[in-house]
Amino acid sequence: MVLEKLGSSLKATLAKIAGSMFVDEKLINELVKDIQRALLQSDVNVRLVFELTKRIKERAMKENHQKALSKKEHLISIVYEELVNFLGKEGHKINVGKKPFNIMLVGLFGSGKTTTAGKLGKFFSKRGFKVALVGLDVHRPSAMDQLEQVAKGVSLPSFIDRKEKDPVKIWKNFEPEVRKHDVVIVDTAGRDALSKDLVEELETINRLITPSERLLVISADIGQAAQTQAQQFHKSCEITGVIATKMDGTAKAGGALSACAATAAPIKFIGVGEKADDLEEFRPEGFVSRMLGMGDIEALLEKAKDAVSDEQAKDITDRMASGKFNLIDLYEQMNAMKKMGPLSKVMEMIPGFGQLQLPKEALHVQEGKLQTWKHIMDSMTKDELENPDIVSPSRIDRISGGSGCKISDVRELLKQYRQRAEPPCPYFQAGR
Ligand code: GDP
Ligand code: MG
Repeated sequence: MVLEKLGSSLKATLAKIAGSMFVDEKLINELVKDIQRALLQSDVNVRLVFELTKRIKERAMKENHQKALSKKEHLISIVYEELVNFLGKEGHKINVGKKPFNIMLVGLFGSGKTTTAGKLGKFFSKRGFKVALVGLDVHRPSAMDQLEQVAKGVSLPSFIDRKEKDPVKIWKNFEPEVRKHDVVIVDTAGRDALSKDLVEELETINRLITPSERLLVISADIGQAAQTQAQQFHKSCEITGVIATKMDGTAKAGGALSACAATAAPIKFIGVGEKADDLEEFRPEGFVSRMLGMGDIEALLEKAKDAVSDEQAKDITDRMASGKFNLIDLYEQMNAMKKMGPLSKVMEMIPGFGQLQLPKEALHVQEGKLQTWKHIMDSMTKDELENPDIVSPSRIDRISGGSGCKISDVRELLKQYRQRAEPPCPYFQAGR
């Protein structure tokens, strides 16, 4: 999957928010660090990363959350919105206007132009347009064969000339035929770098065919270097958009996407594989939602919301701080954790769950055990519940008899309480 690693790091970060007790500056700082780490690993430019996380932090600290949203949900929605903005906000669809609608593909050697010509051809012909592919890469001997092959693969006509070395002549020769199509996709020659002769060649073709779209095909595996390339091509050929290819095979795609989004050239498509169908229109919103698995995050949030309310969380924490945390709080806490469901269910929802420091034993509370503890607590006096340290062996005997539970159960409950009451309490470290 595209950007799997970045997606799962960000997902784990958001899950951390969902699993935390409440939103405070410490949590926000941690969130910001996690996001920075995840984006830098995806080769996003350092300056862009810091600008993004600064905005997230500012909004998280300043904005009051809307009533309907809990603070946690609000924080997650800020991260989501800012990531969408980061990748260009709106999608830039290509609307086929006057016909023939000429699309010129430009880019360096091996960036994926010829492959993309076939993919784009299929994309438009599936939408009912009459499409033709034209080969103007006159430098590589095998370029024409490749384009012919690609066109055959998607059942489209290709206009190629294996002998002619002047793209202008090729175009003029085919123009009367080519004009009969709705969408004409023109494959051009690349170079190792944007050299002077490439610019001149592209300018000549550009003047000749006056394309409605000049799309730069760029390989996402170059990461943030995409910015310089996009800027250079934009300056010399005035590109109207970018197609980022090989998104499927690189961990640096985040760098490439954010770099292009930061230039004047919007990303219009992404290539996600070698096959003709492996092309997607790029919409930042859909892309981020999918990358983060918003469905999963939403489900998780629902559970987090039920589990502990903001007030409850604050109350328990205050009591801990003042040393008043007692068995009643423990019971409430266990109940809250139980509402999150069995650990296995929660884990299913969060890839990269292992990175979370949720105490597994706290999540593993079983229905039966809670019931037993409830019986035990029912047999304890108010004094004992509030000061469990006074529960002596003889009191344990009494409680065990009164509740009908085993002495070992009473001991276990007291042990759990002591583990939790002693700082640092694992539950309260979780997600903070
Ligand atoms: P050109 O020199 O710009 O015309 O590049 P090509 O179209 O010949 O592509 C170069 C290589 O990149 C070929 O092996 C393609 O199969 C591969 N390629 C192109 N797009 C993608 C993509 O989205 N994903 C993957 N995995 N490979 C791609
Ligand atoms: Mg080519």
